[in-house]
Amino acid sequence: MAEEARKRVALVTGGNRGMGLETSRELLARGLRVVLTGRDEKAIERALRGLAGPAEDAIAVPLDVTDPDSIESARRMVNDRFGVVDVIVNNAAVLPFETDDVLAIPEKGFRDALDTNLLGAIAVCRTFVPAMAKQRYGRVVNVSSGAGQLSRMETYAPAYSISKAALNAFTRILAATYRDRGVLANAVDPGWVRTDMGGPSAPRSVEQGVNTTVWLATLPHDGPTGGFFRDRKPLEW
Ligand code: NAP
Repeated sequence: MAEEARKRVALVTGGNRGMGLETSRELLARGLRVVLTGRDEKAIERALRGLAGPAEDAIAVPLDVTDPDSIESARRMVNDRFGVVDVIVNNAAVLPFETDDVLAIPEKGFRDALDTNLLGAIAVCRTFVPAMAKQRYGRVVNVSSGAGQLSRMETYAPAYSISKAALNAFTRILAATYRDRGVLANAVDPGWVRTDMGGPSAPRSVEQGVNTTVWLATLPHDGPTGGFFRDRKPLEW
């Protein structure tokens, strides 16, 4: 198939609910092929059935970002069905121990946050970015948080905040490593959004929350890389 005719393939982690599901929906609506992934097979199948758009352009693939075997088996499934992944949206995350006392969090709280929010994103990139670099096209969107902004960091959810600051650092390093190979990598703060994580009092809808993510996932060749964005504008680290 000629490269011009091939639809871009986007893989979204934690695609079964919240902003991952909305991101999957919007990327499909923009004409990309979507790999909706998640750790619960029934939940991703249910989410897939709720997507509008060409049925052949979206698949549900089990992927637990903390399980290397599941990432590798997802890679094989995606490569068989759609070929190379062009876009990664590292959206999956957990928010353990929302206490504001850093020293009250047991080691497990830090491990859980880092395993999913940082090491999970790194593992997904390790699996899919080399093929992007080889084809000289790739977009990586790391869904971070204002909580990970070092310049404003105080006491909110320390394990989560530390994991998102580390995800931001990974974003910069990944971007610098692959900037000459067509891979643009950026971090996004979606704002405070009404999801299971954000809760019902959050001011933003999921549509507002994913707007910048979708933009970063579909950047043109001369788009930014190594940045941190909210509402499509650069944020201080
Ligand atoms: P959410 O509704 O709680 O959804 C989190 C998603 O992550 C779920 O699909 C969950 O899957 C998945 N997940 C968790 N651990 C996983 C793992 N090991 N492997 C694969 N998937 C896993 O959260 P959200 O609000 O949509 O958040 C999306 C992103 O935005 C996150 O990165 C979050 O940190 C960030 N964010 C959110 C807000 C907000 O106000 N909501 C603000 C700033 C940043 P299960 O259903 O299996 O649990």
